[in-house]
Amino acid sequence: MKHYILLLLVFSAGLASAQEPGKDPKTTEVWAITPPTISPGAAYGNAPSDAEILFDGKDLNSWSTPDGKPAKWEVKDGIMTVAKGTGDIKTKGTFGDIQLHIEWRTPAQVEGDGQGRGNSGIFLQERYELQVLDNFQNVTYPNGQAGSIYKQTAPLVNACRKPGEWQTYDVIFMAPRFSDNGRIAVPARITVIHNGVVVQNNTEIWGPSQYIGLPYYEKHGAASIRLQDHGNPVSYRNIWLRRL
Ligand code: MG
Repeated sequence: MKHYILLLLVFSAGLASAQEPGKDPKTTEVWAITPPTISPGAAYGNAPSDAEILFDGKDLNSWSTPDGKPAKWEVKDGIMTVAKGTGDIKTKGTFGDIQLHIEWRTPAQVEGDGQGRGNSGIFLQERYELQVLDNFQNVTYPNGQAGSIYKQTAPLVNACRKPGEWQTYDVIFMAPRFSDNGRIAVPARITVIHNGVVVQNNTEIWGPSQYIGLPYYEKHGAASIRLQDHGNPVSYRNIWLRRL
């Protein structure tokens, strides 16, 4: 009896779909939204046609010190390098959800160890640090190594190249959303691909990076990207983003 009922159900379901007017595959084709046509970069890492270029190798016109004065990092041979003691630099533009491409290089001449070796950082919205560090055969606390969300989430793997070699970060950052009362409504999320390898997979960010203590959110809007002067001559090149 059970089987008979089941068969009847299957048969009637088949009949129903056979009688549906929507048997035409075109009924589920969506033509109303046309994704813009862009040109991807000519080679890997090159900016696509709809990117905002943050550093083209020529000057620091898109950057300033955190308090708005001219950025003082060294620009030479198409790259920018931390000028020790001149402080962090930040973009003049402010951003929310973005796709970011950035290439970085720690010094070929290795000095120091742990957090003192090729340390810099990329602070998304000036608060959330994606660590830049020379972790090629250099051990530190995992949630502070290259590819970590600093003092929060360790990378899935250590994908570091050797000191002195160029490395890439491709980042998808979704900014946090706040309620009118200032409380966090939707935490920030980040995906990071380091040298072609996923090291953060849609990771929730717990709040602004804290050196001491636990992070907590405070309401903010669109904000700059800040690069860290941690006293090591780390270099950057080919920095661009797309607003999502
Ligand atoms: Mg750092």
